[in-house]
Amino acid sequence: RGPASAMAEAGAACRPPPDVDTDDCLREYRHLFSPDILAGQVAFITGGGSGIGLRVAEIFMRHGCQTVLASRNLQRVSEASKKLVAATGQQCLPVSLDVRQPQTIAAAVDEALKEFKRIDILVNGAAGNFLCPASALSFNAFKTVIDIDTIGTFNTSKILFEKYFRDHGGVIVNITATLSYRGQALQVHAGSAKAAIDAMTRHLAVEWGPNNIRVNSLAPGPITGTEGYRRLGGKFAEDASQFKTIPLQRAGNKTEIAHSTLYLASPLSSYVTGTTLVVDGGSWLTSANNFPALLGIASSSAK
Ligand code: NAP
Repeated sequence: RGPASAMAEAGAACRPPPDVDTDDCLREYRHLFSPDILAGQVAFITGGGSGIGLRVAEIFMRHGCQTVLASRNLQRVSEASKKLVAATGQQCLPVSLDVRQPQTIAAAVDEALKEFKRIDILVNGAAGNFLCPASALSFNAFKTVIDIDTIGTFNTSKILFEKYFRDHGGVIVNITATLSYRGQALQVHAGSAKAAIDAMTRHLAVEWGPNNIRVNSLAPGPITGTEGYRRLGGKFAEDASQFKTIPLQRAGNKTEIAHSTLYLASPLSSYVTGTTLVVDGGSWLTSANNFPALLGIASSSAK
């Protein structure tokens, strides 16, 4: 059965592309977009060494892009980089930074510009999260999530703006979440942090549009094969058949998030800025926000 007949099958538009649950590259890949849609471009991806960020890097590279993977753990991004180069044949530079420390971001961006001479795309994917009721959340835990997610996104965006995008244009994709839309239980810290990033997306889109910079958010739902899914009870919800409440009746996979990120980063979305693309199978509209049930998930995923 050839690719054309696979695409012609009824329901193909809702069928997930193949993925692997580990932080490995895909064993097979069929292009849906033009394979050279990002040819010659360079993407700087925070949190690019694992989970969603790693798959975004892979899909970008499979479309002709070179990437910079940036996170705290240099060994993690270096190992990821080797796998990506082997799978795609594109160049990939691993760099170490902490998005809470502007001087480390500036040094990493300088290193990337020295290597590639340009940066066209920034994906802000670095984040931290866990389940915790507000009553048990320490002041410091709340602040840490805001520091990494919200302030880290601002720090990285501002440094990229000053060092390159202001003069050359660019695209920013902020990875957020749907948690705040219905006040998700046990998620006041991450929900608040991501809601602030969605606001930042609109502010920066307005201020930086005249510089030919597009800024959008992408809000994933539950995505298999990620740290978020393991920590936030995705498997538990799947086993408890709670995914039946999601309109598309399943979790998403990392390639689906990467494809939507590719859309936002590419010329296909050339007139799209200041918006949030929700990629969650309709999940936030219908899924349980049941405090006692989620407390059960929190205690079982902590074991
Ligand atoms: P993940 O693999 O844990 O990715 C988070 C990344 O952020 C890691 O690579 C980590 O690398 C990096 N990071 C954390 N703190 C950092 C810091 N201070 N400075 C620089 N890098 C830092 O998790 P994921 O589940 O794939 O999530 C990726 C993104 O999608 C996150 O923004 C998350 O909020 C969002 N999201 C995920 C889901 C889901 O179902 N998984 C749902 C909604 C939204 P180091 O430890 O090496 O720094």
